[in-house]
Amino acid sequence: MDSDKCTGCAKCTESCPQKALEMVTEFIDLEDKTIAAIKEMHRKKIQYTCTTCKPETNQTPCTKACNAKAIWCVWNPSNLK
Ligand code: SF4
Ligand code: SF4
Repeated sequence: MDSDKCTGCAKCTESCPQKALEMVTEFIDLEDKTIAAIKEMHRKKIQYTCTTCKPETNQTPCTKACNAKAIWCVWNPSNLK
């Protein structure tokens, strides 16, 4: 996720069938900004959480929901080994 591009619209969090995303407020560029983030409980296993969305296509519910193009998939099947 690109925190600079994220507008905080929360559409990705609403679209995620696994409820893996949440909105968080972080101090960025000298101001508080609300952006999307992967929930802590999913961070270390995100490649498993996202498998059913076919992230290799980069056409997942979260990427399609993001008009700001602030979220995309980095898919490396070797991570699953
Ligand atoms: S790829 Fe699917 S499961 Fe993973 S964050 Fe996006 S919508 Fe959620
Ligand atoms: S849909 Fe895009 S712009 Fe909206 S909160 Fe998610 S990452 Fe940010």
